[in-house]
Amino acid sequence: MKKFRARYAPSPTGHLHIGNARTALFNYLFARHHGGDFIIRIEDTDVARNVEGGITSQLNNLKWLGMDWDEGVDVGGPFGPYNQLSRLELYKKYAFELLEKGYAYKDFKEGSEEFAIRFRVPENVLYEFDDVIRGTLKFESKDVEDWIILKDNGIPTYNFAVVIDDHYMEISHVFRGEEHITNTPKQLMVYDALGWDYPTFGHMTIIVNEDRKKLSKRDTNTIQFIEDYKNLGFLPEAMLNFLSLLGWSPKDDEEILSKDELISLFDENRLSAAPSYFDKQKLAYINSRYLKALSMDELKDLTRPFLINHGIKIKNEAWLESLLSILKDRLSYGAEITKYYDQFFHHDFVLEPAVLEEIKEFDNEVVIKGFMDAIASVDFTDDVAINQALKDTGKALNIKGKPLFMPIRIATTGEAHGPSLPVSLSLLGKELVMKRMNKTLEVLKGETK
Ligand code: GLU
Repeated sequence: MKKFRARYAPSPTGHLHIGNARTALFNYLFARHHGGDFIIRIEDTDVARNVEGGITSQLNNLKWLGMDWDEGVDVGGPFGPYNQLSRLELYKKYAFELLEKGYAYKDFKEGSEEFAIRFRVPENVLYEFDDVIRGTLKFESKDVEDWIILKDNGIPTYNFAVVIDDHYMEISHVFRGEEHITNTPKQLMVYDALGWDYPTFGHMTIIVNEDRKKLSKRDTNTIQFIEDYKNLGFLPEAMLNFLSLLGWSPKDDEEILSKDELISLFDENRLSAAPSYFDKQKLAYINSRYLKALSMDELKDLTRPFLINHGIKIKNEAWLESLLSILKDRLSYGAEITKYYDQFFHHDFVLEPAVLEEIKEFDNEVVIKGFMDAIASVDFTDDVAINQALKDTGKALNIKGKPLFMPIRIATTGEAHGPSLPVSLSLLGKELVMKRMNKTLEVLKGETK
């Protein structure tokens, strides 16, 4: 059997979009699962739409996601060059061959010697192929008009170049967006005319937004470029995992899967034709799962730039570690650190009705005042000393457990639940802790009047 070869064939018209990243990923997983080759070919014949830096940006984002390739525009390979504008001679050769054999004809520009080459669509032919995802698809030739394969400037159109390249690069499988289904009959005509075998096609499902509308680049409610997720501090492993579930699922519906697991589980027969919902909550959840598995050093590397950009002075590494130990469980992605930082330190300290009810269950005034006395001479950079002050307060008042901690936690953080109380207090600093406790006492006094 011939080796499986799949390709991702982007047009360098901008950054890597979610949908394209998914196309690349399914071709990648397919190739790796079957021990085949994964190739990146750049389809840059739509010259007006090419953007400067488009190729580099695409490749960098694919690398960031964790993909690698065996052949491509940057790494070369035996079937190169891997961008279409460098292969014009090849397309020209086959366009003229089709011309000679009568499968195509010259289409002269008015009043000029220059001509394009147009494919002559045969009459009454039924084009048929077995789509891996959608089953047998059929098209009648009468629904397709004669179409240009080579423009008068010598540049081929997509539907022509793609056939020459897929054949020449010995591509065995083509997984691509469903918008290419209607292009496929044109491509089949060229395969037939040149006497070549078709590759196996699979047209993937569309991705839809919350309104169940096809995700469009103009939809500003959904972040759609991999670059943007990277800049927000999403993790590449989580993005890869999330993308893999946009139109595919493993047998047992497990959702947290590493790249290696995806490669081993991938099954092209489980690609779905049903629209796939871009579920932001699911992405946040998956990302938070990967965040929780980070080491403290990795978490520091991820969040530090966001804190610095937000104008936060990182006092020292121990401070940063305490901060992250307090806030990490709330994070869905890196950039959120500043939001939780602001909430923790700066939010106008208010006691929400629910926590107010909760604090009133305890002997709050006695505990708060007792703790205020106990911390008078405590060094707040030391959470062990703060913990001791908590214990001393309890001993002096003969109160322990929840009745001791709850009033202090609520009076200082405004929340009834949270991570380590001594560490939280140390981060807040004595001044803020005192201020908040005084404010709480005032609020409680007002309540009892
Ligand atoms: N350049 C095409 C695109 O970006 C590739 C289509 C194909 O895979 O055949 O949609």
